[in-house]
Amino acid sequence: MISFQQILFIVVASAAAYFFLGRIMKIRKNILLGRDENRSDHPLKRWKSMLLVAFGQKKMFKKPIPAFLHLLVYIGFIVINIEVIEFFLDGVTGKHRTIAGLLQKWDLTGIYTATLNVFEFLAIGVILSCVFFLIRRNVFKIKRFHNPEMTRWPKLDANLILIFEIILMLAILTMNASDQILQERNVAGYPNTGLMIFSEIFAAPFYRPFDSSILVIIERIAWWFHIVGIFAFAIYVTYSKHLHTLLAFPNTYYANLEPAGKITNMPEVTQEVNMMLGITNPENDGQPPAEIKRLGAKDVRDLSWKNLLDAYTCTECGRCTAECPANQTGQKLSPRKIMMDTRDRIEELGDLILKNDEDFDDGKSLLGDYISKEEIFACTSCNACVEACPVTIDPLSIILQMRRFMTMEESSAPSEWNAMFSNIETSFSPWKFPPSDRFNWAEELKNE
Ligand code: SF4
Ligand code: SF4
Repeated sequence: MISFQQILFIVVASAAAYFFLGRIMKIRKNILLGRDENRSDHPLKRWKSMLLVAFGQKKMFKKPIPAFLHLLVYIGFIVINIEVIEFFLDGVTGKHRTIAGLLQKWDLTGIYTATLNVFEFLAIGVILSCVFFLIRRNVFKIKRFHNPEMTRWPKLDANLILIFEIILMLAILTMNASDQILQERNVAGYPNTGLMIFSEIFAAPFYRPFDSSILVIIERIAWWFHIVGIFAFAIYVTYSKHLHTLLAFPNTYYANLEPAGKITNMPEVTQEVNMMLGITNPENDGQPPAEIKRLGAKDVRDLSWKNLLDAYTCTECGRCTAECPANQTGQKLSPRKIMMDTRDRIEELGDLILKNDEDFDDGKSLLGDYISKEEIFACTSCNACVEACPVTIDPLSIILQMRRFMTMEESSAPSEWNAMFSNIETSFSPWKFPPSDRFNWAEELKNE
């Protein structure tokens, strides 16, 4: 007969799946609010980029110590969660350590013991790394963790996730230590797992004085805490910067493969110029281009889906801002803030669209309500932020599209820029002089 524990597990797991998948679908819908952009070329290059940057964490290794600890947390979390398979089997069947019981029958307990010890070793590594990250973030005065955009929720989120990971790892050690003591005491329902070294050393001494009936309760609480914690963690991640643990893979796959710093032409402008020069564009069969809704970007719907995927993937690490020359010289611009603002605005607009309709306009926009003109015009287009980003996010792309909007739709570029634009238009040079006068300075030298 199905037990209360099995029913409870199935209800909790189903509710978690419902909320998690609902949130993933919403994020997907929000990303698809962006305009279309083709990123399906060169699949082999894309797979290579994803394997190196997302799986291999290639760009993290510019700073070896934090990179190693980050890798430990990343591997630890993935590998330890293999244990969730057994949690599921136990939850559904109502048994305890289903896989250990099976392996015991086939005389393969050694494999189970070795695997659990690897999990425990990684759990200790995750705890130590998270403690290091907490100290680094809160005690050391590293500037990129204390920029103005890193207050309130972003700061709390970064700390919460580290604390959460420590607690989840402690729950594993607690569960294993009490389980191990119950095995030693031959309590029914606790199959032999072999020696779990780390929980024996670090946790068992705390639990050994307890009576077996209390240890069973401790073991059950730790089991439930761990599995419910994992479900809660999965849902929480979709609201947090830690969404990068999932999105880093598609984001690196769809990364820009063009040479670094190459600024793309605007197809709308290219078509117009071609028309003026009488060049037939094969894409529209020589017909006038379709009406252009907007030049550049004012709000998130003007950006591409890849820009929006970038925003959801941002880990808020601040490496881009630390490298940004505009930020270093005291300007308001922070590429990390550009990505955080973009994500906040998609979330806001996505919610409003859900409650109203696809074309809903709340009268607000990313440019103006979230990001100021001052920030956008402070950018030197140096590409340092893109180069620094460990998950190949491109804040410069968003900045350039907004700058194009302000320049081409609002004519609000700084007056010095406008003078330069008209010089380029009339003299094909940023200065007032025509190209034929370019070498006049050398003539003057000759006459000396
Ligand atoms: S491209 Fe702009 S935002 Fe990026 S680092 Fe350079 S100045 Fe900063
Ligand atoms: S854009 Fe990249 S480098 Fe900048 S904060 Fe986000 S993840 Fe870090």
